[in-house]
Amino acid sequence: MKIIRSIKSFGQWRNSIARSESVGFVPTMGALHAGHLSLVGKSRRENRRTVVSIFVNPMQFGPKEDFSKYPRPWKKDLSLLKKAGVDVVFFPANEEMYASNFQTEVSVSRLSNLLCGRPEFRGSHHFTGVATVVLKLFNIVRPTRAYFGLKDFQQVRVLEQMVRDLNVPVRIVRCPTVREASGLAMSSRNAYLSSTEKMASAQIYAALQRGKKLLTSKPKMTPGQVRHIIIRDLKNVHGFRVEYVELVDSETLQPLTKKTFPALLAAAVRVGPARLIDNLLIHA
Ligand code: AMP
Repeated sequence: MKIIRSIKSFGQWRNSIARSESVGFVPTMGALHAGHLSLVGKSRRENRRTVVSIFVNPMQFGPKEDFSKYPRPWKKDLSLLKKAGVDVVFFPANEEMYASNFQTEVSVSRLSNLLCGRPEFRGSHHFTGVATVVLKLFNIVRPTRAYFGLKDFQQVRVLEQMVRDLNVPVRIVRCPTVREASGLAMSSRNAYLSSTEKMASAQIYAALQRGKKLLTSKPKMTPGQVRHIIIRDLKNVHGFRVEYVELVDSETLQPLTKKTFPALLAAAVRVGPARLIDNLLIHA
């Protein structure tokens, strides 16, 4: 496995492989877990080469967010990636990605303002940071396919829209959410949780599943009524601060007042020091 830290060296590697070789790409911020590794596995099955990037992107963190605290167990990450059979890890320093006079932003306007992007939550600039760094990484890596987890559904939609709007020659591949045995969606931020908080956090998925059942089995129940039941359930869990529970159109992410499918049932909850998100895609 090659570990490459500069854009120039990455370009040399990229130019050294045959044009016919497909390249799968998995962008990450490190602190890797089985969710990340499932993306790597899918990329390896579908491509001749697999590139993983590890970059904690300062541009997608708000001033009050956890950029400096974000876990960086890089030695362990590199050994997991080596074991997983990755060809190249692109592991740039901040200055390599953002020169001192950096000033260009990619903003996917409508999708970025909703759900986690609302001003009272992470704000739309979070997704501008994501879209900007991912477009930079696509230009550096020049992948055939890029793999993203559905746990971050809004991120996937923002990137799909960016690729379509800007004619970026890459195929975005959606990958299912990998969960703990309890149902809790795996996340690097779960490391912030105490064991009690982690156990309680499984209630997020459980509440979404109950909501899905109500939506599909009770024809008279409206999205608003189901949302209120889920919010009530989550508020009853000790230590939970609910940011939102929404039923939205799975393409536009606009809130639904009537049941139209496919829909996304999504939630964000603060548990102790962590902000956790999860969602379920619901078909008719
Ligand atoms: P991150 O390192 O958090 O930026 O995540 C890198 C990629 O891994 C993103 O595409 C995430 O959506 C994906 N990912 C994170 N957690 C999971 C999970 N539990 N299951 C599947 N994919 C995930």
